[in-house]
Amino acid sequence: MTIAFSDGATFEYPFSLLRSACPCAQCRGGHENMKPEPDDDVFSIPLMDARATRLEDVKAIGNYAISIIWGDGHTHGIYNWHYLHVLGEKQKEADSR
Ligand SMILES: [Zn+2]
Repeated sequence: MTIAFSDGATFEYPFSLLRSACPCAQCRGGHENMKPEPDDDVFSIPLMDARATRLEDVKAIGNYAISIIWGDGHTHGIYNWHYLHVLGEKQKEADSR
């Protein structure tokens, strides 16, 4: 999935990364672990279930976020633009290492 931001940055996200970085409480291991920015470990979480990383649908939530519906029925993640922007930046960093 490619997202172009209003500041001119464009990032391309593999579906597996988006799923690993799912910001919902369930995926982060509790509400206390929910953060406004993605953890570095989202780049190293292996995902075995192919259905879990199949993107079924994307819905806009107002003008501040998107919600992703995954192939295994997981729909809890609300990815706001800030979260996605930081995720894209971190991914570029990780790629250039
Ligand atoms: Zn989740």
